[in-house]
Amino acid sequence: MAQIKRRKTYTATVGEVRVGSDAPIVVQSMTNTDTADIDGTIRQCAALARAGSELVRVTVNNDEAAKAVAYVVDGLDRLGTPVPIIGDFHYNGHILLKKYPECARALAKYRINPGNVSIGKKDDDNFRTMIDVGIENDKPVRIGVNWGSLDQSLLTRLMDENNKLEEPKDARDVTMEAMVQSALRSAELAVSYGMRKDQIMLSAKVSGVQDLIDVYRELARRCEYPLHLGLTEAGMGAKGIVSSSAALAVLMQEGIGDTIRVSLTPAPNGDRTEEVTVAQQILQSIGIRSFTPQVTACPGCGRTTSTFFQEMAEQIQGYLREQMPVWKTRYAGVEEMKVAVMGCVVNGPGESKHSNIGISLPGTFEEPKAPVYVDGRLMLTLKGDHIVAEFIKILDGYVDSHYATKKKLVGISN
Ligand code: SF4
Repeated sequence: MAQIKRRKTYTATVGEVRVGSDAPIVVQSMTNTDTADIDGTIRQCAALARAGSELVRVTVNNDEAAKAVAYVVDGLDRLGTPVPIIGDFHYNGHILLKKYPECARALAKYRINPGNVSIGKKDDDNFRTMIDVGIENDKPVRIGVNWGSLDQSLLTRLMDENNKLEEPKDARDVTMEAMVQSALRSAELAVSYGMRKDQIMLSAKVSGVQDLIDVYRELARRCEYPLHLGLTEAGMGAKGIVSSSAALAVLMQEGIGDTIRVSLTPAPNGDRTEEVTVAQQILQSIGIRSFTPQVTACPGCGRTTSTFFQEMAEQIQGYLREQMPVWKTRYAGVEEMKVAVMGCVVNGPGESKHSNIGISLPGTFEEPKAPVYVDGRLMLTLKGDHIVAEFIKILDGYVDSHYATKKKLVGISN
């Protein structure tokens, strides 16, 4: 794993999950079901948790949603997929948390948006009410600023002050500063109401990559709270994935970020768990955490005779993902395995040698055989119509013989 020096922070605990400082960077996600649809929300939370989401956020926007929360948490426990559930509140969180104490107790964390909880308005105690409920129930909060709902009174004041300067700053810079100030001032207020510093996490989400990098660098420089990273409204498909990866990679490389969410817009009826897979892949590609064995595959070129090797690479990656829920309970360290599936012998053997196990398929005009390398050495050559099945068999054997079973490890430590 890459040796990246993480920024020092307080460590918050969300359910059983530690966030901040030296704790692993936590992957989280958010449902898009109507939370009042208890069964549908349980199903999606369970799918996200099974995909590897370590925290799941649900919207709590009305009475029905608030009433449903405890049933969702209970249902997940009964299903055997317990995962800390975070409540996402806007506008009426102070009312819902007070009116439904079972919701306040069942949630593992509350997300508060200072831009719509009326901080700073005269005689307005909404923010304080939410903090008080957090303190009473010993729950952490995320103070989540979003530039789409930024505290307008703060922004207006900073813009006015800026206009009076001899050399006014760019409006974009003032907006970034307003986001940082909104998050820090809200955290200060929460502490002044009695919340512990290790119960507070911050985020300041924007939808531009460069803006996100700038605002988080500033936030990281000015506080020691754990930071929730994510590019808001990242978008669909390749655009959302690439933008999120670009922004998060730069920040995490600098040790900034304690929990991440990739806000992908799924295709209609698309798979919500994709955002979890992408978040894991970002962490694994940078070398921060490992979740699943990685397949190295060449892009193919004029030397590849057919799509066979592309299909094989896809099948192997799919097979590895399918096996991981079982393998990770059985084999220690298997998530770090590297597998190469290459299109011909030009780079195939070389890449295979750098992997735990690799195969080079025959390219155009090459002999119809596929050398398999294990731990850098040629082990055998496969031929015929069953190359994929035979390679998977070799893969299974490799996993079984090279990764100590967790049962054995427990035996040793005892
Ligand atoms: S390994 Fe072979 S098939 Fe793959 S890109 Fe390189 S030359 Fe082309």
